[in-house]
Amino acid sequence: MMIPPFDYKIPNTIEEACDLLWQAGGKAKVIAGGTDLVIGLRQGDHVPPLLIDITRIEELRKIEEMNESVFIGAATTHSEIVSSSLVKKYGRVLSDAASEIGSPQIRNVGTIGGNIVNASPAADTIPPLMVLNAMGKVVSKEGERQVPLSQLFRGPYKTTLKPHELLIQIIFAKLSPEVRSSFVRLARRGAMAIARMNVAIVLQTEKRKHRIEEICISVGSVTPTPQRMSEAEAFLRGKSPDEEVLQKASLKISGTMIRESGIRPTTSYKKPVIEALFVRAMRKALEEST
Ligand SMILES: Cc1cc2nc3c(=O)[nH]c(=O)nc-3n(C[C@H](O)[C@H](O)[C@H](O)COP(=O)(O)OP(=O)(O)OC[C@H]3O[C@@H](n4cnc5c(N)ncnc54)[C@H](O)[C@@H]3O)c2cc1C
Repeated sequence: MMIPPFDYKIPNTIEEACDLLWQAGGKAKVIAGGTDLVIGLRQGDHVPPLLIDITRIEELRKIEEMNESVFIGAATTHSEIVSSSLVKKYGRVLSDAASEIGSPQIRNVGTIGGNIVNASPAADTIPPLMVLNAMGKVVSKEGERQVPLSQLFRGPYKTTLKPHELLIQIIFAKLSPEVRSSFVRLARRGAMAIARMNVAIVLQTEKRKHRIEEICISVGSVTPTPQRMSEAEAFLRGKSPDEEVLQKASLKISGTMIRESGIRPTTSYKKPVIEALFVRAMRKALEEST
């Protein structure tokens, strides 16, 4: 399908981008890698009169650490995240997820900010960011705000961002070296597939793996907006993760899915799959050496 003509601007600073977004009165759209947006336009999404390309804004492409936190610029590509030693060291669950996205070509242009703002229920970086308790920094001509990632979502493909707001940074507290984590996903096809369901876990066990001290779980594609699986987390805290406990916890995960999303035609397929995927993610996290 032919895309109608539109204006294209490439600001060099965050301030310039905010000015352009403000002047457009909510009609412009931000473009980063374009891997979601351009496909949407080709498929008939409304074409905005102006696209604002944020990939030349240097500040949005940095990964930095300060004190106890890691800061990732919103226009950082998945490949840059995969090759970041900072993310590997302090937020391994995110680099593991980024390494499985799409194909090398998609990872080289697709950005973490685009993955978040596109708000697909199956977005691979969102569950890892949920278990890292990440915050998003949002700016506009009206000012700056920092929000927990979960509060950026309103529903599938819907965020709480105003049309003139720009997500500029993702921030998470560094995980300590003894924390284990895992990311597993189930994709429909091979490497180019978008995952249908994914699970991210951050886990702290007592020495010798006998007891779970702290655990964060988030599962993609099973709830209307991304969230933590707090019922399963509470059940697992203080327990030894033997097979029986894992099976019981997996029922809490599918129970949350059914409670939040209702019984759907896909439920009979999704229920056993998400239970198995969760158990696989737990085993993987428990096997990870710290
Ligand atoms: C073949 C293929 C395979 C894929 N595989 C996967 C996969 O395995 N896993 C996965 O999760 N995704 C996958 N995707 C989806 C996509 O690549 C990712 O979601 C990617 O991270 C989107 O980033 P982008 O920079 O390309 O976003 P864009 O397409 O540029 O933007 C997406 C949306 O976010 C908005 N936006 C972007 N950045 C900002 C910002 N900083 N502030 C405010 N708004 C912003 C845009 O306006 C747009 O609405 C795949 C896509 C394709 C085409």
